[in-house]
Amino acid sequence: MEKLQNYINGEWVSSRSETFLNVVNPASQEVLALVPSGSVKDVEAAAVAAEKGFSEWRRMPVSKRVQYLFQLKKLLEDNIDDIARTIVLESGKTFIEGKAEMVRAIENVENACGIPTLIQGEFSEDIAQGIDEYMIRQPLGVCACIAPFNFPGMIPFWFLPYALACGNSYILKPSEKVPLTMTKVIGLMDQLNLPKGVINMVHGGREVVDGLLEHPVIKGISFVGSSSVARYVYAKGAANGKRVQAQGGAKNPVIILPDADIDMTTQIVVDSVFGCAGQRCLAASTIITVGEHSDITESLVESTKDRKTGFGLEEGVLMGPVISVESKNRVNGLISKGLNEGGKLLVDGRNAEISGFEQGNFIKPTILENIPLDGELAGTEIFGPVMSLVHIQTIEEAIQFINSGKYGNMACIFTSSGLHARKFRHEAEAGNIGINIGVAAPVAQFPFSGWKESFYGDLHGQGKHAVEFFTQTKVVIERWLKEWNRKF
Ligand code: NAD
Repeated sequence: MEKLQNYINGEWVSSRSETFLNVVNPASQEVLALVPSGSVKDVEAAAVAAEKGFSEWRRMPVSKRVQYLFQLKKLLEDNIDDIARTIVLESGKTFIEGKAEMVRAIENVENACGIPTLIQGEFSEDIAQGIDEYMIRQPLGVCACIAPFNFPGMIPFWFLPYALACGNSYILKPSEKVPLTMTKVIGLMDQLNLPKGVINMVHGGREVVDGLLEHPVIKGISFVGSSSVARYVYAKGAANGKRVQAQGGAKNPVIILPDADIDMTTQIVVDSVFGCAGQRCLAASTIITVGEHSDITESLVESTKDRKTGFGLEEGVLMGPVISVESKNRVNGLISKGLNEGGKLLVDGRNAEISGFEQGNFIKPTILENIPLDGELAGTEIFGPVMSLVHIQTIEEAIQFINSGKYGNMACIFTSSGLHARKFRHEAEAGNIGINIGVAAPVAQFPFSGWKESFYGDLHGQGKHAVEFFTQTKVVIERWLKEWNRKF
């Protein structure tokens, strides 16, 4: 069985940790590789390498730095199918989903190729007589990313290309559940011949995270994962003087007004709820019909029942398993909770049996109707293929319900009324809003704007926020006097 290695100072090296975790195919329980549980000594080695790498990298002109990203884009494009297959094997997604996330990763590389313009400073001449003032952006230093399991290939790219283009060196810690994808990607990056230490990868879990949060050389931390860990990372990183952006969990509501187009709404909402088996931080979770709807419930049920579930490399499969046995048990437990709270199962996806994959962590698409809005399930992130369908009389009540939630990652509305859409956009407390869109995932030019407990920090991933996050401003006030020598 392959034991995964860390990538430090341009070399593949074994972890100092002597314990390993299984990397498992969630569709079959097959063990794909062993990942080190990680050691603070690995972080130390990566930090030393990254600090050295930084001193060379930051002096390289930005126009030269982005040449590496142009090459990286090409490498990712040429290898997208292979990477997508790895994503399927270790995360359980479908091949199309694996490929789609790499398209978004590549889009972020493309966007970061524009950093020679995005990183430009500001200049004011004569702020007083003969005095000029300007602001330049300089890299932070060594930065690090702590990634979740659900987008093994895309999420590191919300940060990594921007960090490098801005002149920082980088340490990546993939999720220990899905370390193979970025191992493959870093293998491709090895072909770029970046200066040693500019990009490093350390595998592992909590000990590595704590090592990153405590190491004095590391100046910036980008985290994506559950809210409880996001809060921990944010607090500990900040306490150690680091700049931190920490994206957390979600519970995304979608309002369907009576004037919404039923066919379009059904297709988009069902894709949003069940895509990636509901393991998306932008998965629609609570579907709220407002007012009188004659047939939306029936339409959602019909479309949900037919969704083919199975191993993501098989033809026609639209949904794979959830990531782990624990996750399957947790989601099943939450379905039971919804039933205990008074919900009714319109589609029951428990006890799914997938021929040839009997051991897989499969839950078929499930719809629970009429869970109480003040119950536990209505406020809990399920992170599995479960739609909670509720009915509310007015848009005001629906918005009030949305705003009472603790998360604020995404909220969507389906309607043909511009007036209602505008009211919703204005009032809904979430950082990513969809109007007749089911997964309001910002493209690379825009920040991924979670609010409330879905985000801890100031500057989000992607777009101009990324340039701000990965640079620090330096303001220079400058005077040149002919008679300077004589006067002083
Ligand atoms: P997670 O919080 O369990 O793990 C995320 C990372 O933190 C991993 O690298 C893991 O090794 C590390 N980690 C886990 N527990 C830790 C601990 N106690 N101390 C220190 N480090 C720890 O998250 P996950 O299960 O991998 O991902 C799913 C979660 O991520 C969901 O809640 C989902 O909503 C969220 N998510 C959010 C976004 C977003 O943009 N807001 C995007 C994707 C996923």
